[in-house]
Amino acid sequence: MTTDFTPATRFAVPGRIAVSNRAASVWQTATLTEIRRETPHSATFRLAVPDWAGHLPGQHLMLRLTAEDGYVAQRHYSIASAPDDSGHIELTLDQVPGGEVSGWFHTVARPGDTVEVRGPLSGFFAWPGDRPALLLGAGSGVVPLMSMVRHHRARGLAVPLRMLVSARSPEELIYAGELGGETTAVFTRSAPTGLPVGRMAAAHVAPLLAEQPPGGWEAYVCGSNGFAEHASRLLVAAGQPVERIRIERFG
Ligand SMILES: Cc1cc2nc3c(=O)[nH]c(=O)nc-3n(C[C@H](O)[C@H](O)[C@H](O)COP(=O)(O)OP(=O)(O)OC[C@H]3O[C@@H](n4cnc5c(N)ncnc54)[C@H](O)[C@@H]3O)c2cc1C
Repeated sequence: MTTDFTPATRFAVPGRIAVSNRAASVWQTATLTEIRRETPHSATFRLAVPDWAGHLPGQHLMLRLTAEDGYVAQRHYSIASAPDDSGHIELTLDQVPGGEVSGWFHTVARPGDTVEVRGPLSGFFAWPGDRPALLLGAGSGVVPLMSMVRHHRARGLAVPLRMLVSARSPEELIYAGELGGETTAVFTRSAPTGLPVGRMAAAHVAPLLAEQPPGGWEAYVCGSNGFAEHASRLLVAAGQPVERIRIERFG
């Protein structure tokens, strides 16, 4: 895999991770190779991108659809898969009611179809796997965090990683079958028997921050605007330094 994230450039700006402007500016054709249902409203789309420059967990891309009449729609999507040499990347999309791009993926797209992608983008939300990571996500906000979890597993990293995710119900918990001991799930509408129903709260965050790994946690928060605000307030109240909270908003 070609990677532009050499240690020398990675921390050129403190806290930021270098992004290759060249890779980010070139549109590439991506071929849909597989569709996997995750929940009633979300699915994973596997894309072959032969010249993909590589990415870091947490990064996203720009996706472009062009209709036969020339109409173009572009949206950002987080990369769900861990970096690897497969020449493929995976995206997980929620079907937004009336949504142009997510609607096309969920109702029209078939293996063999092509789209265009440009990326990877945003070094700020990237996690190179070099520091303890505390991941808080809600709904499809779990997508870039799952790339981090998958990377942590694939590389057998020893650096601590914990994830706290919020979903409406067990049926709507994306990647449910893949989540392990690193993850705590919170359910806001209905929960499995014996588990409470409610919002992510101080009681979920405090135990994670009670454990302080060497160097402290880097927190990554992803979801709607409302969730991002709520979760970052919980983190600050529990003692997480505000400058060590990275936020990606899907709203
Ligand atoms: C950095 C970044 C990463 C993202 N990663 C992902 C991802 O991994 N998976 C994913 O599913 N989405 C992700 N999104 C959201 C994605 O970019 C689109 O906004 C989303 O797919 C809706 O696009 P659409 O064309 O289907 O809907 P549109 O046609 O743009 O919108 C249709 C209607 O839905 C409303 N709407 C738009 N977006 C949302 C939303 N997210 N939730 C509820 N209502 C909405 C609009 O206001 C409008 O009324 C990400 C966004 C950003 C900024």
